[in-house]
Amino acid sequence: VLKLEKIHKQFQETTVLEDINLEIAAGEIVSILGQSGSGKTTLLNLILGLEEPTAGKIYFNDKEITHTLMEKRPFNIVFQDYALFPNLTAYQNLIYGLKNEKERSSSDEVAELIQLLNLEKHLDKPIHQLSGGQKQRVALGRTLVMKPQLLLLDEPLSALDGVIKESIKEKIQEIARKLHLTIIIVTHDPEEALTMSDKIVVLDEGKIAQCSSPIEIMSESSCHFVEEFIVNQL
Ligand code: ATP
Repeated sequence: VLKLEKIHKQFQETTVLEDINLEIAAGEIVSILGQSGSGKTTLLNLILGLEEPTAGKIYFNDKEITHTLMEKRPFNIVFQDYALFPNLTAYQNLIYGLKNEKERSSSDEVAELIQLLNLEKHLDKPIHQLSGGQKQRVALGRTLVMKPQLLLLDEPLSALDGVIKESIKEKIQEIARKLHLTIIIVTHDPEEALTMSDKIVVLDEGKIAQCSSPIEIMSESSCHFVEEFIVNQL
């Protein structure tokens, strides 16, 4: 369980996040949804450990991690641009993080992941020969071989189109279910949040405007902003 308690973040005079209280259960898919500048990336950085909050505390499984270094947190992220090595093959990218790391995936587990992500036919291809959806699956695989307890996805569908978007969406849900993995998705797209997650955290100018299930958001928006931003956009 990830718990954020009374989180404030300020850059010089500017308050970017204010009184963020949030609990994310194991195995849950949660979207952080907000417009540009609402504080999504800052929140992601605090969870990852790239930034420290100005006030407030972060706990993971009841242990305080507010000031724990990023490398010591059992979290991993897939960035929007995937950050893959273009000249290495899909397989070389996949196993890149495994060097000298004994407690990570065994070769059997890597083989299972390759199957789960349907990457069997693409392993020997260099990254630059892969489609967007294939790259996204390699990026997911490279992160999953490290066995994170929490997976963060930064705009996971924004570089993809139509049919591929749908298949990656299903893949992410399948991964969460099969590996009982907690997933946090950062997105500015209401449709993405509504169709992928168990819970949506709507950020508006650094504050949580609403935090509830997609059904609740659609049936009873907590405020005018949520209604305008989500319900009326669909
Ligand atoms: P986008 O979707 O455009 O990436 P976002 O929701 O991720 O936006 P953040 O990047 O978290 O928003 O930024 C929130 C606010 O904090 C913005 O007004 C931004 O200018 C400000 N901000 C972010 N990082 C810094 C920083 N290092 N110093 C000062 N201000 C910052």
